[in-house]
Amino acid sequence: MNNQISLTNTTRRMKVFVLPHAEYCKALGRCACVELPGKKKRRVPSSLTIPAGAKADELSQAVLVVKRVAQAVRQGELTVGRPPRARRRKPARRAVEAPPVPADVGEPEAQEPKTGKRGKK
Ligand SMILES: [Zn+2]
Repeated sequence: MNNQISLTNTTRRMKVFVLPHAEYCKALGRCACVELPGKKKRRVPSSLTIPAGAKADELSQAVLVVKRVAQAVRQGELTVGRPPRARRRKPARRAVEAPPVPADVGEPEAQEPKTGKRGKK
């Protein structure tokens, strides 16, 4: 999952999400847990903190797998955004300029009423 997303905290409270190994790391494809300093190499799940009203950018889509995050999204506490730079599958080609609208090309002028007030100045 390389697609990056952003999450915006729409609530007035700071949100802290634990990103459990079994959910987040698995979805991510690598372990993002934090290794605690010390002799025993204990690892604790990383966490995601989003202050009230703030937006967290460059998150892996894997965060959406975390149940509590998904729940918050469903409840509208978080809104998912995709950064505008995010590329789709196709490489960014030059935007094809809008083809010229074939305006009246080949349209006979026969339908134009010959009578009438033309060239009214
Ligand atoms: Zn992990």
